[in-house]
Amino acid sequence: MKTILVTGGAGFIGSHLCAKLLEQGHKVICLDNFFTGSKKNIESLLMQKNFKLVEHDIIEPYFTEERIDQIYNLACPASPAHYQFNAIRTIKANTIGVVNILGLAKLHQARILQASTSEIYGDPTEHPQKESYWGNVNTIGPRACYDEGKRVAETLFFDYHRKHSLEIRVARIFNTYGEKMAENDGRVVSNFITQALSNNDITIYGDGAQTRSFCYVSDLVNGLVKLMNQPDFIGPVNLGNPIELTIKRIAEKIITLTGSKAKLIYKPLPQDDPKQRRPDIALAKEKLNWQPEVKLEDGLKKTIEYFRKII
Ligand code: NAD
Ligand code: UDP
Repeated sequence: MKTILVTGGAGFIGSHLCAKLLEQGHKVICLDNFFTGSKKNIESLLMQKNFKLVEHDIIEPYFTEERIDQIYNLACPASPAHYQFNAIRTIKANTIGVVNILGLAKLHQARILQASTSEIYGDPTEHPQKESYWGNVNTIGPRACYDEGKRVAETLFFDYHRKHSLEIRVARIFNTYGEKMAENDGRVVSNFITQALSNNDITIYGDGAQTRSFCYVSDLVNGLVKLMNQPDFIGPVNLGNPIELTIKRIAEKIITLTGSKAKLIYKPLPQDDPKQRRPDIALAKEKLNWQPEVKLEDGLKKTIEYFRKII
């Protein structure tokens, strides 16, 4: 039994991760400032004796007497609408916040995993994206607070590893979806499902020809836990589903699965929106023996059921 800190533990991925770690018999400390996360996501965990909730912002240092064995650092808003809401706070979370959490890991000699992102590849000129690709990010655009923030966070992780022999793990997460995404999250899957279920127009940004590859949350969480517990592989490693589709295609799929009467409408494409994205997951297969198991339609059906209940 380990004591594991999950920053951003009340968010979409974090709440699934906390539940999985508790199931495995660990003690879990969930640290969150509730910017995009919610108590509802962790409601069922709050009464478990091995679960502790700490309301805290990682931009401020965090100390605890309790000995921590592992840290998953997920604290950062992930939806473009939310991370751009206060871009400077997003940068602070990924710089000052990351230094604070790395310092905590150093103090406890804990192993620490960073939830990095496919956004570090920016609008990629290499396709699919391998870990060896250095990316194509606009440093001064509206997405930079997140993309460049996550890039410097990776740099900090590797510098703490080189300088202090800290045990690090870096996962580059590609678009993930599933239950407990916030209704107002603004990301494509939750937007399209909530629009379809309420028979509102489905808002396609641009012409819908841009692509993404969607991974169901249980697959992603399995990958994170495997990476954390892999003895001799630190990453960075892509975790995502390599099945790629256009945004228009995902809208059509969601309309079919919900039986919605919603119509597609077209809105301007946000600045610097990546045109294509698909992970090369050969490294994850080789080093972690990991690949996604859940088919897109099955994952979408579960997500649709979740939103049907909460809307
Ligand atoms: P989310 O917004 O649902 O979760 C983020 C959580 O972090 C929330 O609970 C939020 O309240 C908390 N948080 C934000 N800033 C904080 C701060 N300064 N201090 C403490 N807590 C803070 O997003 P998510 O989709 O669950 O993403 C989790 C992590 O995974 C993020 O780091 C994100 O960058 C990364 N990621 C997610 C995806 C994806 O598709 N979901 C893709 C790539 C990377
Ligand atoms: N998108 C869209 N309509 C929406 C929300 C998003 O067409 O209501 C598009 C968005 O422009 C992008 C893709 O869907 O091309 C994925 O967007 P999301 O915000 O989910 O994630 P990211 O761009 O960070 O991959």
